[in-house]
Amino acid sequence: MNFMTSAEVRQAFLDYFVEQKHKHVMSSSLVPGNDPTLLFANSGMVQFKDVFLGLDKRDYKRATTSQKCMRVSGKHNDLENVGPSPRHHTFFEMLGNFSFGDYFKEYAIEFAWQLLTEVYGLPKDRLVFTVYQNDDEAYNIWVNKIGVDPKRVARMGPKTNFWQMAETGPCGPTSEIHWDKTPELGEDSIVFMLQAEDDRFLEIWNLVFMQYNRTQADPTHTGQYDSPLPAPGVDTGMGLERIVSIVQGKSANYDTDLFMPIIKKTQEITGHTDAERDANYVPYRVIADHIRAAVFLTADGVLPGAKGRDSVCRLVIRRAARFGTKIGLHEPFLGRVADAVIDTMGGYYTDLKDRADAIKKTITREEERFRRTMDMGLVALDEMLAQLPAGGTLDGEKAFYLKSTLGLPIQVTKDIVEERGYGVDMSAFDTAEQEHATVSGGGLAMGEIDMGEAYNAVLNQLKAEKSLSANGVDYLPYGDMSLSAKVLALTQNGAVPQSLSIGDKVEVVLNSTPFYVEAGGQVSDTGTIRADNWEIEIEDVRRPVGGLIIHIGEVVQGAPKVGDAVSASVDSLRRADIIRNHTGTHLLHAALRNHLGIHVQQRGSLVSPERLRFDFAHDTRVTSDQLKTIETEVNEIILANYPIKSEIKSLQQAKSEGAMALFGEKYGDTVRTVIIENGARYSYELCGGVHVSTTADIGIFLIISEGSVSAGVRRVEALTGGVAIAYIQEKLDILAHVAGQLQTTSETVLQRVVTLQDELSHSRKLIEKLRRDLARQTFNRHAESLETIGGVSVMVLQLDDTPVETLRDMSDWFKGKAKSGIFVVGSSFDDKPLLMVSVTDDLMKTFRAGDIIKQIAPIIGGGGGGRPNMAQAGGKDVTKLADALQQARVVIGQMAK
Ligand code: ATP
Ligand code: MG
Repeated sequence: MNFMTSAEVRQAFLDYFVEQKHKHVMSSSLVPGNDPTLLFANSGMVQFKDVFLGLDKRDYKRATTSQKCMRVSGKHNDLENVGPSPRHHTFFEMLGNFSFGDYFKEYAIEFAWQLLTEVYGLPKDRLVFTVYQNDDEAYNIWVNKIGVDPKRVARMGPKTNFWQMAETGPCGPTSEIHWDKTPELGEDSIVFMLQAEDDRFLEIWNLVFMQYNRTQADPTHTGQYDSPLPAPGVDTGMGLERIVSIVQGKSANYDTDLFMPIIKKTQEITGHTDAERDANYVPYRVIADHIRAAVFLTADGVLPGAKGRDSVCRLVIRRAARFGTKIGLHEPFLGRVADAVIDTMGGYYTDLKDRADAIKKTITREEERFRRTMDMGLVALDEMLAQLPAGGTLDGEKAFYLKSTLGLPIQVTKDIVEERGYGVDMSAFDTAEQEHATVSGGGLAMGEIDMGEAYNAVLNQLKAEKSLSANGVDYLPYGDMSLSAKVLALTQNGAVPQSLSIGDKVEVVLNSTPFYVEAGGQVSDTGTIRADNWEIEIEDVRRPVGGLIIHIGEVVQGAPKVGDAVSASVDSLRRADIIRNHTGTHLLHAALRNHLGIHVQQRGSLVSPERLRFDFAHDTRVTSDQLKTIETEVNEIILANYPIKSEIKSLQQAKSEGAMALFGEKYGDTVRTVIIENGARYSYELCGGVHVSTTADIGIFLIISEGSVSAGVRRVEALTGGVAIAYIQEKLDILAHVAGQLQTTSETVLQRVVTLQDELSHSRKLIEKLRRDLARQTFNRHAESLETIGGVSVMVLQLDDTPVETLRDMSDWFKGKAKSGIFVVGSSFDDKPLLMVSVTDDLMKTFRAGDIIKQIAPIIGGGGGGRPNMAQAGGKDVTKLADALQQARVVIGQMAK
């Protein structure tokens, strides 16, 4: 066997099929783009479904992929196998080769055999095979063509060896390849054992032969409705994790280099010895499996949530966290384990590395959410179980309450209940869940309502019952980021919801709020609203009508109620990033005016936690020198640590003092001003946004781009604080990496690149010269023995890798040497054929170069022409050069007559 790393196993598969003229296609997203009925891609053929159905055409007929798959629902649900089973995962990679009406059974089988036995070097006597019961064709290929002993080929029924896309449509027999885990048991009853689906064998590869079109459902597979497909196809799938376990000689997929780094990372966090780890192998494996799924799901944009695909992402994270508690991990740890996944898989799936921070943040946030709710759920579950007789069954309604109000996923409830020797009434759970879906969907039955009007009604009612003053909600974004408040109303799209539970989206109206509402480019805050026994995670804040502020979010715990006392808290780290960028924007504005002129007027702005974007009136590109000066000035103001002051005053006073107002913006009579003074007034703007208290809070200011938005408007983007530092670190890393590659240091890397460029251009010149010398020698050798055709001296030459310039030189040499004669030369260059003919002046009347070329160029798939003494042509087919040159001899012979 040839030992390979998992990355090498994947690459060897793809390389092998590329060599067999397959197109390497990247894995599609886990979220199927073309099939809303399917939760996740669960095999390699999903992205090619429409090609197989003839609805889509590609410019290739053979493809190979390593496809990201998830099997957690529907026909393929392997969730509960994970952990105990050494070979099943929720997330795994499926290696596959596909033929779209190109090759069929014979090649598919030969490819598989050659790859397994030659590329991976698996011993032939460890491989066994199945075919569909009546598929003599496949049976004969294995036995007669490949030469497998019939003792190792089993005919099997439709349950394992017949594949259908659906009840009707494409279908066909399959042939599976299995690995014999215990060959010492002897060969005699292999076929019998395969037919009995004995545990002795590990299925590694399934070859599906899409052979028929089924026109009517045929549950017993009589075959009477199957007609042959006009262009039969091949779809195969081999689990990467399984083939790696064989190539690396491991008995479980988890022992390979795909999983061990993840398991070791977890072990590093628990501090277990290897023996302790092995004694707890189920939690370690479940965590390793689920964290891979969570990383790949979030990378594909499936974020933890209550419904559909999102609920699967939530489930794998929460289940992993729960299994963590079984090995003593009670603090969030999955973000650290995610690093190991990104390291292991980021080489092939490079987007994981690009999005590493966002992925880890998402996972950790969900884990924290779960830890906050899990304790309550577990206590409640304990109480419920205590009331049951030993071995009793937990009510489905109760399990649903744990999920909907306490956030315990049903699979986690089920795990715990079963671990303690009880059961759950799953069908009652399903019924309760469906009932809830109908109830909470009921709000939508109200149909289209005018939302502005609905919010107005809410506001008026709150004013009428004196819950709100005439000014509406108390808006307090400039003070503490956490406040005590009271819930005045809960709405969904302005309407009152009938019931609320975990996962529901809701809008909260409070009597006062510390949350900032998007204005002046500064984005809204996010955060939480928390009562004693419930919590809502706030994702957005809006002011649908003047005086009313709604906090929009998802219930993550408990059942929110109007009238409850809550604590409303802004996500303070995010807010800190935002306000650094906001004050940074004011400094940028001032510095631009100082250096470009006072015509610089703000035309638009975005202030988010990630970056700031500032659009302004200016006609020409801001040069990089100007940008550097501006950036330096802003950083000087930051380092000088000036305070930021804000004052409320009349609009008139502010304007007369020279405050910058936005063109076209409406202001009230009194306005808020933001001032930064450095002895004089450095920046003075009308602004309702939130700012840092002194400039040094910004940390650092970095311009990352300058460009044009429209005529007369330029855009600058910049970073501040931690984001700017991360940006610099990344760039320095790249520089260090480049320097490392060039075996030098960052300081001298530029010098090294210049030297390398010189060397390269020198080498190119040298190659040019050597090529010419070589051509000269070749020419001289042939010039000794010219052919004579029709009484004329002729030189016919075929060359490789010779550019057209050299052919032209040769023509000159020929004329210099032969005085009277014809020179015909053909060459291939960059895989394209070239032909050139030249005729000495004395022969031009009889032998026109252009005429000769016209007759021979079509042979190489080209056309050409030229003057009577010199003509050239390009073409497509290099393999026909010799034919073209031979034809030149014939043409010259004919012209001589
Ligand atoms: P099994 O019977 O082992 O569950 P399967 O019949 O469901 O396999 P196929 O649907 O034919 O498998 O998928 C093709 C290949 O994908 C399998 O041969 C196996 O190598 C791999 N595979 C399938 N399911 C999983 C899984 N849950 N985890 C890892 N690999 C899998
Ligand atoms: Mg299966």
